Amino acid sequence: TTIPTLQLNDGRTIPQLGFGVFKVDPAETERIVTEALEAGYRHIDTATIYGNEEGVGRALAASGIARDELYVTTKLWNDRRGEAAAREALGASLEMLGLDHVDLYLIHWPTPANGSPVETWQTLAAMRDEGLTSSIGVSNFDERYLPEILETGIVPAVNQIELHPQFQQRAAVELSAQHDIKIEAWGPLGQGKVDYSTGVIGEIAQRLGVSWAQVTLAWHLAEGRIVFPKSSSPERMAENLAAASVQLTPEDIAAIDALDQGAAGRVSADPAEVS
Ligand code: NAD
Repeated sequence: TTIPTLQLNDGRTIPQLGFGVFKVDPAETERIVTEALEAGYRHIDTATIYGNEEGVGRALAASGIARDELYVTTKLWNDRRGEAAAREALGASLEMLGLDHVDLYLIHWPTPANGSPVETWQTLAAMRDEGLTSSIGVSNFDERYLPEILETGIVPAVNQIELHPQFQQRAAVELSAQHDIKIEAWGPLGQGKVDYSTGVIGEIAQRLGVSWAQVTLAWHLAEGRIVFPKSSSPERMAENLAAASVQLTPEDIAAIDALDQGAAGRVSADPAEVS
């Protein structure tokens, strides 16, 4: 399987299919990320709050894979706002990851209760210019929170938001597209909280002789989103990676598009309530 890449609005490229490590036990992270790298993943999505950057870093170092073949994302946690805190946080992440730069650094949540994200965002841009991260972006900045970021004139390369068939975030996707901000879909499989194995997706999977997870990931890829499903089993890691070669028809894609339930489809936290 060849992993497709996308070009970001800052000229950088990103592997469209990666591996996420939310809820991967820090004690098991080195082993699980090593297995993911062996399966063929080259893009790892972590965050400081996951507590497993050190394990990710050890797996990357032990792999012997050249730095420029790897794509590493981490995220600034919500209690680190303003220039000094953001600089200290990225420095600590780089230390834990054992890297001199990450490929992508994101503000993890808008946290409206913590005040404006503007100074923090400007600091991310400065750190990008200094080479500490190649690209910068935001996470969970839906149409309520993205405008304040855009007003700075510094356009995020990506917006990482909850997105899966029953929760397609049309307004956030549309606003991001207007600025050529790529969408990274978190919880791309519905985090195991939605049964996508039956109904429309199950029927497509049966027809194509692939799994419901592969159909769902292929739908994301076909619509130009970046995904990094999480799995601790080598079988599912390989299965998810192989979704890159699943071909859906325009009718399949339209049928999955029609599963959107709008706001009712959300399965995780509303950014308005996260601080
Ligand atoms: P996900 O949709 O990837 O679902 C993971 C669940 O699906 C796990 O329970 C796993 O066992 C199961 N699964 C994986 N592959 C499967 C397969 N082939 N068949 C059946 N079940 C399968 O949810 P996620 O892990 O929350 O999201 C992916 C990544 O997104 C995370 O690991 C993390 O990197 C990122 N994320 C970011 C945020 C954010 O706020 N920015 C929030 C949540 C997750």
